[in-house]
Amino acid sequence: MDYSGIELKVGIEIHQQLDTKHKLFCNCPTRLREVDESSFEFSRYLRLKKSELGEEDRAAKEEVMRSRKFRYKFYDSTCLVEADEEPPREINIEAVLLGIQIAKMLNMDVVDELHVMRKIVIDGSNTTGFQRTALLAFDGYIEVDGRRIGIATLCIEEEASKRIKEEEGEVVYSLDRLGIPLVEIGTYPDIDSPELAKKTAKKLGMILRSTGKVKRGLGTIRQDVNISIKGGARVEIKGVQDVDILDKIVEYEVVRQINLLKIRDELKRRNGRVLREIFDVTSIFKNTSSRILRKANSVMAVKLEGFAGLLGMEIQPGRRLGTEFADIARTFGLGGIFHTDELPAYGINAEEVDRLMEEVRAENGDAVVIAAGDKNRVSRALERIIERAEYCFVGVPEETRRANEDGTTSYLRPLPGSARMYPETDVPPLRITKELMEIEIPELIEERARRYSKEYSLSYDLALIMAEPNIYRLFEEFADSVGAALTAKILHLLPSQLRKEGYSVESLDENDYRLVLTLIKDGKIAKEGAEEILKILTQERLDEDEILRRLSPKKDLDDFIRELVEEKEELISERGIHAFKPLMGIVMREFRGKVDGKVIAEKLRGAIEEKLKEA
Ligand SMILES: [Zn+2]
Repeated sequence: MDYSGIELKVGIEIHQQLDTKHKLFCNCPTRLREVDESSFEFSRYLRLKKSELGEEDRAAKEEVMRSRKFRYKFYDSTCLVEADEEPPREINIEAVLLGIQIAKMLNMDVVDELHVMRKIVIDGSNTTGFQRTALLAFDGYIEVDGRRIGIATLCIEEEASKRIKEEEGEVVYSLDRLGIPLVEIGTYPDIDSPELAKKTAKKLGMILRSTGKVKRGLGTIRQDVNISIKGGARVEIKGVQDVDILDKIVEYEVVRQINLLKIRDELKRRNGRVLREIFDVTSIFKNTSSRILRKANSVMAVKLEGFAGLLGMEIQPGRRLGTEFADIARTFGLGGIFHTDELPAYGINAEEVDRLMEEVRAENGDAVVIAAGDKNRVSRALERIIERAEYCFVGVPEETRRANEDGTTSYLRPLPGSARMYPETDVPPLRITKELMEIEIPELIEERARRYSKEYSLSYDLALIMAEPNIYRLFEEFADSVGAALTAKILHLLPSQLRKEGYSVESLDENDYRLVLTLIKDGKIAKEGAEEILKILTQERLDEDEILRRLSPKKDLDDFIRELVEEKEELISERGIHAFKPLMGIVMREFRGKVDGKVIAEKLRGAIEEKLKEA
């Protein structure tokens, strides 16, 4: 694919949760909870208000059309600020300082005064109906592969609630995540290839992790990607959690836009047309074998003239134009749609398809879309699908889409209008003083890795892992005394191997690794013992003595002593209990550091006494 020929423009927006003690506008902890720990819940609806200029936001309007109920899970670690029953407190200074540090690392200009704004959010993920956000810095850059990628803005924001589930007409959110501080970093649309998009996101992620103060794990960093091509439109893809598929996402979106443009050209050639009429076809499917249609209290249809074959056309791997329409139906709480390009099928027979075509007066080159369910929901969804079908004659709609795990995307909502921000009057502005600006920037993970690789002659890839903020202190603590290669093996290679073998390595913490490394450093275990200790520690919390005892199972010691006493029968009968000393030496050579010496002495003395009694 020649990306320069299609004028590909990509901008990335990264959202990274900060690992601060408190939330951004209250003193609640930034700790995530299990949903079943929730003590109670409440619910809200979204209502549409016109702006001061009398305008309605198109994304907000569509959400109100969906008329969903939002349910919120409340915890003993959340407060009235998250519930929007109490005004926000002053902005968390720890988060602001971290933001300044990151802004410096991105070569940005920091504002003189921080103003908190309200950004309209219409999916219910914020109890207030808006997200609080504050522009902290602007106009910076990073170098990626010798290219300079501009950084447009850095904002400090509050994280939204976590969506737990979505059922017909209802969305459940968890408030534990609401209000965790985020940095939002937006690049300029300087990126012009899928590969560069991925590399830029990785670089930004590395810079953020270098602070050692960002949350780790799935969902703590998310990328939104803005993509457009010549003749296409700006499409925003939200919530990419796996940076490794970012190139694929860009690639697939380019393919989608190119195919939508092909569909446009074909529709124009065919003189296609969308009828703004919704037909009630419930009666046709009274006795159908399709359970969905038979059970539905309403089945409705729209006719798309000249669309035959195009609804079934693949526009992304495994996704067709019909799938795009089905996405819209799903956002209205329906299961999806049927269309004539894929019928007869799904229990709908040829006769029913004929009657359907007849009912809406469709001809051979036409397509018919049907949806089933609650009458209001179905007609609203079909109204929206008619709009979308009309847009096929224009090309690519500006919209917000959701990233799927395979790199494809699904329709989420129209791109919101631009008038989405207004001041948050409950939070006073914050002067960014000289003192705040004095915060120093940390060593970058990549720099540290280059240093390790040189100082300890590790491979760069391994050095890069040792340089991560959650590892490097331990590495530096033991690299000299235990050896860099062995330390890296215990901190990374062994755990990876054990994870593949099914051990829950995630349960090991810094103290576990420190314990193993200390035992090796003090010569209490051989380096070969590390693997076994790590295995044991994934299953049980044990102290040093207990571990040394466990290292060699008791049975082995007992067997060893029994065999030894048998073998040295002569010595024992000659010297009696005084044979203990030389025999103890033999056992200790074998079990030193693995079994407590007192235990060995006790067992050996017992075995010798037993032998003497026999004689
Ligand atoms: Zn709170």
